[in-house]
Amino acid sequence: MTMDEVGSARDRGTASWAGAPSRTTGTRTTNEEVRQQNLSAVLRLVHVNGALSRSHIGAATGLNRSTITALVTELLDLGVTREAETAPTGRVGRPSLGVAADDAVVALGIRVEPDAVSVALVGLGGTVHSRVRHDLSSPPSPRRFVQIARSLVDGMRADIDRHYRLVGAGLAVPGLVDEAGTVVVAPPLGWRREAIATRLERALGIQVTAGNDASVGAMAEARFGVGRDADNLLYLGGGLHGIGGGLVFDRTLLRGTSGFAGELGHTVVDPRGARCACGRRGCLSAEVNPAPLLELLGRRKLDEDELDIELGVARDPAITAELERQVDVLSLALTNFVNAFAPEAVILSGYLGVLLAASRERLSRAVHVDPVGAEGRHVRLERAHMRSRLMQLAPAEMAFAPLLADPVGLAPRPGR
Ligand SMILES: [Zn+2]
Repeated sequence: MTMDEVGSARDRGTASWAGAPSRTTGTRTTNEEVRQQNLSAVLRLVHVNGALSRSHIGAATGLNRSTITALVTELLDLGVTREAETAPTGRVGRPSLGVAADDAVVALGIRVEPDAVSVALVGLGGTVHSRVRHDLSSPPSPRRFVQIARSLVDGMRADIDRHYRLVGAGLAVPGLVDEAGTVVVAPPLGWRREAIATRLERALGIQVTAGNDASVGAMAEARFGVGRDADNLLYLGGGLHGIGGGLVFDRTLLRGTSGFAGELGHTVVDPRGARCACGRRGCLSAEVNPAPLLELLGRRKLDEDELDIELGVARDPAITAELERQVDVLSLALTNFVNAFAPEAVILSGYLGVLLAASRERLSRAVHVDPVGAEGRHVRLERAHMRSRLMQLAPAEMAFAPLLADPVGLAPRPGR
């Protein structure tokens, strides 16, 4: 099967990839709709949790044994799940034959950053099969980005055609992306009003869904990372090019008007502060940024792990003072966010994860705020779990969304 055949069968639809669409018409729910919702629930369950026994699926969904058997059989026939051994359960210790998402059903997770374009081949269930990256010395124009992405994907085609069934691609962009996949503005890239999903779709010949990188990261962390037990979480990812936020409430990404909610990096924390890429002064993105620390360390660029080490051994008082200043600013912002959104968990990713490792106690105090009139509450403060792997699989989640919502309507047929 060619990639085009798979791609063309897809309805672009809305980009509300975060939640299952409700297909009930009025108050009437047909058997067909119930079946579709149940298939979707079972597929999501094994997508997020890995191999599960039929009895575990029954317990998680509340459906009876014969219904589960029928649903699992149908998902196997659709070629989106496979039989798989489940982990041994405590008392008997014998692995049983369960069902898992079929990781031969794949999506491309594409990411564009000012200094790189990367493409990951991700299987249903969150397996990263392979990944390629193209480093850049300056931010790519939209045209250049599409060229690079296309050549990276071309390099994967033979492997994809031979071994996998491709459902589409997801693109994570450091900027505001509307529901049609148009980048409204992406200051780190210098992009403005670019119909990037459409352009990439034409170049690749498959369906492309685009979204904000922090929103995409928040959903992936909620599904596969440290946020998986939390219904409500606040995610903040930071780097040289600013801070992005994502809010997941009731396990659904908070989108806001046009999908622009969660731009927490442009919360003003000091009206007389440093100039931000958005044009204002004193945004969190401008005030909490690795650039001043890199300068003090005499380095141009460091990845997360390297920065952990360098800051851990730094004894220069100027570095300590700058680190403390930034942690104080971040603490102030976190206190405000926790009061505004009351999340169960706050997850810090990228550079902000580095700050958390360097100053866990100070930042913990900031999230354990007692809101007016309330008893002390417990907010988990965690460093993003998956680091770079998260941002590889995260964009692919957007491409899997329609299949997860409607396995019958959208399953790529097994290529036999
Ligand atoms: Zn700003």
